[in-house]
Amino acid sequence: MHKLVIVIPAYFEEEVLDSTISTLTQILEQLSEEKKISGGSTLLVVNDGSTDQTWSIIENYHKSNHFVSGINLSRNYGHQNALWAGMTAASVDADLLITIDADLQDDPKSIIEMVDKYHAGYDVVYGVRNNRESDTFFKRASANLFYKLMNKLGVNIIPNHADFRLIDRRVLKQLLQFPERNLFLRGMLPLVGFSSTKVFYKRRARQAGKSKYPLHKMLLLAWDGITSFSEVPIRSIIVFGFLLVFFSAFYVLYGLIR
Ligand code: UDP
Ligand code: MG
Repeated sequence: MHKLVIVIPAYFEEEVLDSTISTLTQILEQLSEEKKISGGSTLLVVNDGSTDQTWSIIENYHKSNHFVSGINLSRNYGHQNALWAGMTAASVDADLLITIDADLQDDPKSIIEMVDKYHAGYDVVYGVRNNRESDTFFKRASANLFYKLMNKLGVNIIPNHADFRLIDRRVLKQLLQFPERNLFLRGMLPLVGFSSTKVFYKRRARQAGKSKYPLHKMLLLAWDGITSFSEVPIRSIIVFGFLLVFFSAFYVLYGLIR
């Protein structure tokens, strides 16, 4: 019956959660009225160790809105792990799954288009932003540099796609087979294969609250992306080690001869 689960990671999102849950509820209602998804579809909000009102908002909605359920993580595990927790829980009975950030910077209306593509037979639908106007110059430049670097290292990632995507049940099951610990989902997805397509949307600015991705977290994610998907860093270290041994031996020899 096409049960859709929308997984929403939330870290200190008390300021946006009300409006996010009501917007996404309307979309689920519309899709279920149009018989594109089952009435048992859900919004699965994963509280990633926030200590503000995030969890109590989820609990309250769960009592009054049959679409809403939640997972409360024991501490902050980070965005990618929060998504993984939601995907693992959803894999029990979801036929299709969408991940979207709690601040709805990614256009929720694209969800309808994603579900249509799923019905047209695609297993993966990537949400791709068609502009970066809402980004700072620094974020734009660093993102471009990152995509270029990943490309040079031979890693297949979709430019301007983050963690807004639809996957179907088969893809979800395969993805969860990865024994990976340092998750970089946007790099893992293309490795799984299956038929895929894109939907394009304009990414908005955050409506309230602050970004939970300060520079150091962004760099750590980029580092996980590079080290998990390319052998170039580890090879460079080996070559550097050999060079160091070679030059040290040469230097010792030179000293002895002198
Ligand atoms: N998030 C999370 N755990 C974290 C950091 C972020 O679950 O440790 C969530 C956050 O609540 C949001 C999503 O990940 O739903 C993306 O974060 P944010 O919107 O702050 O990142 P940005 O859009 O600024 O890159
Ligand atoms: Mg955001």
